[in-house]
Amino acid sequence: NLGSSLRGTLNDLRGKSRISEEDVEGVVKEIQRSLIQADVDIALVQDLSDSIEGRALDEEPPAGTSARDWVLRIVYEELVELLGESTDLPLENQTILLAGLYGSGKTTTAAKMAWWFSKKGLRPAVIQTDTDRPGAYDQAKQMADNAEVDFYGDPDENDPVKIAMEGLEETADADVRIVDTAGRDGLNEDLIDQIERIETAVDPDRNLLVLDAAMGQSAKDQAQEFERAIGIDGVAITKLDGTAKGGGALAAVNETDSTIAFLGTGETVKDIERFESSSFVSRLLGMGDIDQLAERVERAMEEAQEEDEDWDPEDMLEGKFTLRDMKKQMDAMNRMGPLDQVMDMIPGMGGGMMDQLPDDAMDMTEERMRDFEVVMDSMTEEELENPRIIGASRTKRIARGSGKPEERIRELLQQHKMMDQTLQQFQGMGDADMERMMQQ
Ligand code: GDP
Ligand code: MG
Repeated sequence: NLGSSLRGTLNDLRGKSRISEEDVEGVVKEIQRSLIQADVDIALVQDLSDSIEGRALDEEPPAGTSARDWVLRIVYEELVELLGESTDLPLENQTILLAGLYGSGKTTTAAKMAWWFSKKGLRPAVIQTDTDRPGAYDQAKQMADNAEVDFYGDPDENDPVKIAMEGLEETADADVRIVDTAGRDGLNEDLIDQIERIETAVDPDRNLLVLDAAMGQSAKDQAQEFERAIGIDGVAITKLDGTAKGGGALAAVNETDSTIAFLGTGETVKDIERFESSSFVSRLLGMGDIDQLAERVERAMEEAQEEDEDWDPEDMLEGKFTLRDMKKQMDAMNRMGPLDQVMDMIPGMGGGMMDQLPDDAMDMTEERMRDFEVVMDSMTEEELENPRIIGASRTKRIARGSGKPEERIRELLQQHKMMDQTLQQFQGMGDADMERMMQQ
């Protein structure tokens, strides 16, 4: 997570329209530090910073772009390019082999992927070939049950290749066969030899390398070994929900000349996401997860609307922003979870849309929001729809009714006015402006 120091450095560039060599060096140094902290391979960091520096100095920023936006854009683009598109996974009949070290999350990922494919309308099956680890069969079977997908394993057979072959036959009715394999504590000949034999026998359409996000620098060596042994078509990164930084994945992708297929974000079968470079990079850069935020906002707004059929958020887009809309938005924000967490997900808190609001507009502490809600509960429908009619006497009445000071009512009206004006501004903006802002 590039976090606050990079944000600070970038903010120093705010308002500048020309970038000096010194400016670029400052940002690049900050990026290097943050990438290394995120466990990105040193050589890779060097390559990245070279291209970022080169581009920032050589290329001319588009008219009207600040130095800060320009550098940030380049950083973002370079990282997205390095990570590439997510691994191509056509929704068709196929066999996928999972490889990786012991504990990297293969068995969990096998069940998660099966669940994911089943949600796409396919019939997946998990084939479990781990004969080394006691309990491997039970664990895999349990997870496949949780995912409600077909399963094949044989706790009495010691030869993983035999199990794999038998499994392919037994699951012939399935559309997608996911073959889970054993791991070892470290890379050793036995593991490599075994996975090679399974690979040859199974002849999968795709080999995915499962990597623990906390793997860091050693991810590179692992990726190389597996690439040499069986060839890697894609990477699944697990345990991104922990404190892990996921930087090792960049090296793995770079090393195997492959792409990332899936992200694992928890222990249940549903905790899987298809990789998307833009949101992964935003996460890595500590710029929030745009897609995730958009999804959460949308869901919360839908819920708010379901509860009140008279209210249509589309009206806001037509330029009418009432107190009632504001109340709905506040409800929706409450639903999304702790405010600071939601704010965290908003991209470019250092320089994005929120930053362009006056300081006051951001003072939406949870306490203030609660007060506002109480105040709004004491308002009439008419006042909610048309706050302009609220003068001194209505303010008094609302204050009495809500038990809040008149000051609070004036603050609420002020806040509403500011949000209204901001909304009007956004309406005046073209799609391109909007996109540029969201990319930050
Ligand atoms: P394998 O040895 O490669 O098959 O790894 P497992 O699938 O057995 O996973 C090892 C441990 O990591 C288990 O305790 C899993 O619950 C846990 N695990 C796997 N993926 C994730 C993930 O995305 N998030 C979290 N928090 N735990 C995970
Ligand atoms: Mg396993």
